[in-house]
Amino acid sequence: MKVPKEMNAFCPSCRKHTKHKVKNPSKGKARGLAWGTLRHERRTKGYVGKVKGQATVRKQGKRQKVILVCTVCNKAHERVLGGGRTKKKVEIKK
Ligand SMILES: [Zn+2]
Repeated sequence: MKVPKEMNAFCPSCRKHTKHKVKNPSKGKARGLAWGTLRHERRTKGYVGKVKGQATVRKQGKRQKVILVCTVCNKAHERVLGGGRTKKKVEIKK
């Protein structure tokens, strides 16, 4: 899926459609452990070795996001592309 470098989009802080710059979301540093991991560790506390857990569900793709930065107020918000989960990759046009 190709995304233009700039697009017109609604800005929640300007409360109107303005020009936005499209950025790739950077992968932030993981802070500690995920909520699910913590819960799993709490449940399996005291057990040694492997514990039978719930079957994992395969997800249908990923929620592909882009960061939109408003050129008027310079605030950023994100948008999910492809109507939720997709297997398509996001490319920003140059
Ligand atoms: Zn704005």
